[in-house]
Amino acid sequence: MRAVHRTVPAPGVLGVELARVPAGEPLELDLRLESVVEGVLVSGTVTAPVAGECARCLGPVVDRAVVDVQELFAYEVSATEETTEEDEVGRLVGDLVDLEPVVRDAVVLALPLAPLCRDDCRGLCPDCGGVLDELPAEHSHAPPVDPRWAALAERAGPIRTVSTESQE
Ligand SMILES: [Zn+2]
Ligand SMILES: [Zn+2]
Repeated sequence: MRAVHRTVPAPGVLGVELARVPAGEPLELDLRLESVVEGVLVSGTVTAPVAGECARCLGPVVDRAVVDVQELFAYEVSATEETTEEDEVGRLVGDLVDLEPVVRDAVVLALPLAPLCRDDCRGLCPDCGGVLDELPAEHSHAPPVDPRWAALAERAGPIRTVSTESQE
C-alpha cells in the first residue's frame, strides 16, 4: 500500500452549465494505491476549487468539491484484463495508472447543477431583474393603490377589454 498526495492542474475546464473547475486550477489528490491480486486499486479523495454562478441571482459562487474516487487498474496480463473491456476496468500501462479520466468523471459528477451563492439567496426581482438581497425589503413594483379606488375595483370586478376598432 502506498499513500500518494499530489496537486495537479485541472486538465482543461471541468464543468457543467453553472459550475466548473477552471482549467489549470489545482486539484488535490489524496490517494491510496493498493496492490491487489489483479492489479492496483486506487482510492481516496480529490479536492477541487469550484467557480460558478448562483442559479437564483447569477452572482458568483466560490466553492470546493471533495469527491471520493475508487478505481481498479488491472495488470496487463491478468484474468481481469482478459475478461473485461478497457472502459469497464482501467489498465495499468507498465507501472503507470492514468488517473485523468477517473478524476475528470468524478469531479464533473460532483459539481452542483444549481449552485447557490447562499442557501437563502432570494434571487432576482421578477419585474426589474434587480438582486432582491441588495434591494430594500419593501421593494415592490405594485403601484400604490388609493384605498377608495381599491374598494371600487373590487365591486366592479375584472376590467373588460373594449375593442377600439371602428365597426362600419
Ligand atoms: Zn444568489
Ligand atoms: Zn424590482
